[in-house]
Amino acid sequence: MTRGVVPRQPARTGRQDKVRVQRAAAVNKPDKVSAKSTPPRQSNASGKPAAKTTKAGQGYNPVAPERVAEILKRLNDLYPEVTCALTHASAWELLVATILSAQSTDVNVNRVTPELFRKYPTVEAFAALTPEQLEPDVRSTGFFRNKSKSVVGAAKKLVAEFGGQVPDDIEKLLTLPGVARKTANVVLGSWFRKAEGVVVDTHVHRISRRLELTKENDPQKIEQDLMKILPRERWILFSHQIIWHGRKLCIARKPKCAECALENICHAGDKTWSTVEMHKGAQA
Ligand code: SF4
Repeated sequence: MTRGVVPRQPARTGRQDKVRVQRAAAVNKPDKVSAKSTPPRQSNASGKPAAKTTKAGQGYNPVAPERVAEILKRLNDLYPEVTCALTHASAWELLVATILSAQSTDVNVNRVTPELFRKYPTVEAFAALTPEQLEPDVRSTGFFRNKSKSVVGAAKKLVAEFGGQVPDDIEKLLTLPGVARKTANVVLGSWFRKAEGVVVDTHVHRISRRLELTKENDPQKIEQDLMKILPRERWILFSHQIIWHGRKLCIARKPKCAECALENICHAGDKTWSTVEMHKGAQA
């Protein structure tokens, strides 16, 4: 070996090795973490979080177009073909599933909806119900009284004013009971393929803040920030990808940063492991 050249040392704790094993294990359906998308990992001799938590460095712009483009590229590599996880076969079914998904999980909703749509196969069938009649069918999704009111109310309005059809227009969708921007954007983006906004659910909320794409806490303001910095053609896919990322790696309480392909461009203040400076202001 050439004199004076010190070979790169693995972490004494062996954590580096563990990281590789975990990352390989994370390659799972439907997401693929390609080798291409994995950032070069910096050596961390202690195996502990290397970075100090500081305010964002001078001259650093978290929403610089190059940084945003890099985040989008890595998300594409990680989650190339993700779509909405709510089972549905029509705009109406997606609308109902999205209303039921508030404060619940998609898995939970998907357990309920097949039987629900067998029992009430049309918008008109829902419109003929009272909210109380629907409650037992959606009870397990939580907040079932409000959700029943919203679903039955939306069905009645669709039948009375829109010929039983879900409109592909955000202003009209927002007039339906229980439909706010998130639900309207889900239906427009996933069913009608219309990018009128960005879906901001709990995952998009949390991860957009961690990635410093916004400093806001209000979903509508977060959506406005994202609409300014993301190319419109990525509005729909970005939300799907971030939602999958939030389920797989960037989880709320303990993000799996050591396995994350965004790690070396993420400065979140609540990272569990970091090779870069962490920023106090960038937290879930
Ligand atoms: S590095 Fe950690 S906090 Fe940042 S995006 Fe990845 S999992 Fe989330």
